[in-house]
Amino acid sequence: MVTSSAPTNPPSPAAATVMPAQKSASPPKRKRGRESKRALRERLGEIVSGLRATYPEAECALEYRSAWELLVATILSAQCTDKRVNMVTPALFERFPTVEAFAAAPREELETAIRTTGFFRNKAKNIQGAAHVLLEKFGGAVPNTMAELLELPGVARKTANVVLGVAFQVADGVVVDTHVSRLSQRLRLTREKEPTKIERDLMQIVPQSDWIDIGHLLIHHGRALCTARKPACGECPLQDLCPSAALYLDG
Ligand code: SF4
Repeated sequence: MVTSSAPTNPPSPAAATVMPAQKSASPPKRKRGRESKRALRERLGEIVSGLRATYPEAECALEYRSAWELLVATILSAQCTDKRVNMVTPALFERFPTVEAFAAAPREELETAIRTTGFFRNKAKNIQGAAHVLLEKFGGAVPNTMAELLELPGVARKTANVVLGVAFQVADGVVVDTHVSRLSQRLRLTREKEPTKIERDLMQIVPQSDWIDIGHLLIHHGRALCTARKPACGECPLQDLCPSAALYLDG
């Protein structure tokens, strides 16, 4: 069950506006709307519990059979739905079954095979570039460290976190995609807008043991209820924990 803690002894509006700054024996009151790190961590713990109860099966929706296939699928998922990627990858991996096959593939053929995922020229270039780097530097195997993954063309922290967390169960960071960005802001887990800064904030308040799960959970919630266009706050299990609920419910 998810609950919220109501503020105790709220200041009276009169006291807040009339009282000048004087020395007082009572402790300074917290600024309205400001949440301590401790309170934020507690609220976050309830958010994670609420999401786990709602989405017990939450995991990566991309279909893959190896770390390499997951890497390719994740590169293809940029600006594209996982559903669309899953429609494309079976034929793609049948046509190019190995890293070597991707490296040797005629570029146009590769582009045609992934065209429906969008940005296909850039994606084909990055996938083929990654295949070459894997063969030249890593013996054809996908590495399992953030620093090594970031050496691959087309791989930034989001893709690297997906591969590390899902293929290797390595919690090196938090996946921040469009859903995680949006929900982290609505839930006031961060005030940042850039993915790398959002990830940094989340890593400071989420226990490392939850770094992998929280990405899956927020992505599921973003798809199911807290959608970009119209969040379904009335049905949301996090309603009491979410500072944005009133905004959308009233609006
Ligand atoms: S209460 Fe609304 S805005 Fe907050 S997480 Fe739920 S659906 Fe999203």
